[in-house]
Amino acid sequence: MVLRLDCPHCGPRPADEWAYGEVPDPPDYLTGADERDVDRGFMMSNTEGVKVERWFHAGGCRRWQTITRDTTLD
Ligand SMILES: [Zn+2]
Repeated sequence: MVLRLDCPHCGPRPADEWAYGEVPDPPDYLTGADERDVDRGFMMSNTEGVKVERWFHAGGCRRWQTITRDTTLD
């Protein structure tokens, strides 16, 4: 079975056309804009459950999508 994701611009497309990353919420003790950006970019929690992620359709329209995904169902 091939995992497919629905792109609002291209329609259902295979998952290997996409790149993704979660959108973490930096801890409150990080107050600087640069510190918070680094945390968002590199400190993935990799937790089970519902997560907000950014997916980039690299093999299609080259646009970003924000999705909510339950990692326990995939
Ligand atoms: Zn697309």
